[in-house]
Amino acid sequence: MSEKKKRRAAVDHRVCASCGECAETCPRLAITVERGMYAVVDAGRCIGCGACAAVCPASAITMEAAS
Ligand code: SF4
Ligand code: SF4
Repeated sequence: MSEKKKRRAAVDHRVCASCGECAETCPRLAITVERGMYAVVDAGRCIGCGACAAVCPASAITMEAAS
């Protein structure tokens, strides 16, 4: 049984400026900005498309391998 490598968005909370751009862009509505502090990714919804990382002005999002 071979499993496809999956990717998920990971937010660096120290860098996030909580602008909300990523949440607006996510086609899966997987991102919420927690208490106006930083973006949080719902790993269960994220499909690893990378759209959020592409729009983040602070480069706070990286794509990581998911299990
Ligand atoms: S990688 Fe795609 S699906 Fe996942 S949080 Fe970012 S925009 Fe949403
Ligand atoms: S786009 Fe970047 S800086 Fe803006 S809320 Fe999302 S992770 Fe934070």
